[in-house]
Amino acid sequence: MSVRDILRDIPVECPYCRKENTTSFEPIDLRAPIQCVECKKSFVIGDVFELLYEEEPLARESIDTIVRYATSKWVLKEGSQEASGETQEFLQRIGFEDLIKRTATQVLVHGDAFLKTMASGGKTASWELLPTKQVQVKTSKIIERGAITSVLKEDEFILTVENEEHSFGPDEIIHFKKALLNYDKPYGDSMLQITLNPFNFLRRLRQAPQHIQSQFKGLQQMYKEEVLLGLGVPKFVLERRAAGLDTRLAKYILITFVEKIRILQELLSEGFDRAIGQFASQGKLTEVPKIQLRKLTERMVLLDCDFSFATEIESWKKLYDVGIITKEELDANLKEFEQ
Ligand SMILES: [Zn+2]
Repeated sequence: MSVRDILRDIPVECPYCRKENTTSFEPIDLRAPIQCVECKKSFVIGDVFELLYEEEPLARESIDTIVRYATSKWVLKEGSQEASGETQEFLQRIGFEDLIKRTATQVLVHGDAFLKTMASGGKTASWELLPTKQVQVKTSKIIERGAITSVLKEDEFILTVENEEHSFGPDEIIHFKKALLNYDKPYGDSMLQITLNPFNFLRRLRQAPQHIQSQFKGLQQMYKEEVLLGLGVPKFVLERRAAGLDTRLAKYILITFVEKIRILQELLSEGFDRAIGQFASQGKLTEVPKIQLRKLTERMVLLDCDFSFATEIESWKKLYDVGIITKEELDANLKEFEQ
């Protein structure tokens, strides 16, 4: 095996026979079928991502934590009373609370989520989240002034159910795609992709007899840390406890975590706003409302993880006592420490 192979080969476990296979970036990017070297059955990278989400508590808890923070509170804003009322009723009827959570989970597990919006308004309208790993996106390159650009246009979505293909046009599907820079690729990036390697090691080690496993405790811990770093959810957030960590340091650690959630929230609001726009235009509603997800701050996460702000609160009170801040300023500051 050359260095090049080591860099390119990504271990993936066959979901059928559990045998280790290898793949590379290209089939992952294109969601191409992978044929198992052992049982010869075909699977896709989405099967592997789902396997990790279902069987690895670290993967599942990290993703569920992000989903919880990103989607737990939302309101409709800006719409007319009529449009907001009808939209609210519709969202309630289709179980939006649960739908937005499932959409966010798909986006993190797979990098994509596909929402089918039925072309009918009013009481018969409905939205359906398609099984991500069974959807293929057909794209073509956008041509500008006679030259082919690297920007992709989505032409068709193909859902495969029991060997039968169903085709949908770009107007029928909302594609939630988690891609920061790769707009020239048809699919988004799974949060789990970076963990394929360390998880593969941990899973193989777990299959070994107990006395062998115990010889590699240090290595096991190292790979666990690698998984945690890759997933980007701080340990104290996963455990939901302060564990003696300094509040200011923890707040600093949270900056990238909160940013990650903000990006996911933007992606969700954009997609669902488009879906609401379709719903509203079919029902001839004007002044369409938008989804506003609760803006998360580092402090909110810290409070959720039981960090103490006793010192800060005490300081604000003292500043009021000596007349540096007004009662209004004191109240405004203290309010921020309430959940
Ligand atoms: Zn197999």
